Amino acid sequence: MFHVNDHFQKLPGSYLFAEIARRVKVYQQEHPEADIIRLGIGDVTKPLVPAVIEAMHKAVDEMGQQETFRGYGPDFGYDFLVNAIREGDYTSRGVELAFDEVFISDGAKSDVGNIQELFSEDAVIAVTDPVYPVYVDSNAMAGRAGEYVGDRWNKLVYLPCNAENDFVPPVPDRPVDVIYLCYPNNPTGTVLTKEQLKVYVDWAKENGAIIIYDAAYRAFINTPNVPLSIYEVEGAKEVAIECNSFSKTAGFTGTRCAYTVVPHEVCGLDSKGNKIELNAMWKRRMATKFNGVSYPIQRAAAAVYTEEGQKQIKEVIDAYMANAKIIRESLAEQGFTVFGGVDAPYIWLKVPEGMTSWEFFDLLLDKCHIVGTPGSGFGPSGEGYFRLTAFNTLEKTRQAMERVSKLKEA
Ligand code: PLP
Repeated sequence: MFHVNDHFQKLPGSYLFAEIARRVKVYQQEHPEADIIRLGIGDVTKPLVPAVIEAMHKAVDEMGQQETFRGYGPDFGYDFLVNAIREGDYTSRGVELAFDEVFISDGAKSDVGNIQELFSEDAVIAVTDPVYPVYVDSNAMAGRAGEYVGDRWNKLVYLPCNAENDFVPPVPDRPVDVIYLCYPNNPTGTVLTKEQLKVYVDWAKENGAIIIYDAAYRAFINTPNVPLSIYEVEGAKEVAIECNSFSKTAGFTGTRCAYTVVPHEVCGLDSKGNKIELNAMWKRRMATKFNGVSYPIQRAAAAVYTEEGQKQIKEVIDAYMANAKIIRESLAEQGFTVFGGVDAPYIWLKVPEGMTSWEFFDLLLDKCHIVGTPGSGFGPSGEGYFRLTAFNTLEKTRQAMERVSKLKEA
């Protein structure tokens, strides 16, 4: 019999969201009358904006006409989208990118999961803790995480982020090759200022490491001096790859379009000590394993950068952020310690003293019929915290917070 990749067998069994779904299902069966409000979702709920839909319709019609039909597109994305991104997301922020430094893809999840293919098998990986699980699991599947012992992988370097350090991760205390950073952060909803981010850029430069920067939530940033891109930090083009997505920016979670920036300056060493451009490696990888995002979807994504598109997506984001404000303020009024929710659609709260994240999950489900996400599911430093999201409707969000206000009486 053939052999399978052993590293898959090391992944801890019950995935966080599967366990949440199981507990909610059991509760709903036992309490069929309970009107459950889901504030655990990391998915958008509002429809695509008119500018996007219009562009998508038009492109679909083009596909039905001989003169305008298109087959395979360029491997790394159509010019019109690559240029819209360069101009709209970078030149406008003082960052110049070459045309071939931007790669269009079907999702930031694919890109942050696949990017590890570029690193050596024994590369040492650092992640912030708590963390978006894809960075960890994709490296675990490739054998870089070691063994899962207790609540952690024994070869990963964890950078704890908690109330004590104001959610600013410490730089690694030992040599590492790759650091995954995500800002605005999922799950904590916190951000780093330009000065704080520069500490990592400088550390990466001094220590020969690379930063994988996930900016999937950049559109939610409101605070001045919080960079939308890591390339706003001096020197970052030498040490960082940046992944972005239209999923949260423009409601593309079900539509699928994203992009990754791999600057020419970012280089690593091969086993013979030669300097290798990661841009060339990513090109090779994408050309071999990916055949592009469909033409109508790339047209739809490009419409995000039109004047109308920008105005319309801003309204949607403002609506989610109004929910975030309601959650943040209501919880604070109830005496909870809350973080995030200002530059991100996630609110991270401290669970009541003496409780675990899962105990608080059960309490909130039982007493308020609210589903959130236990912090411990995002890594060891998430224990004692809980994530709520701003992606539900205004009405449901308000209703949920009314229920929380009665929690103490319950
Ligand atoms: N990165 C982070 C931090 C996320 O939270 C998510 C989705 O929740 C993604 C990436 C996935 O983005 P996409 O829908 O583009 O695959």
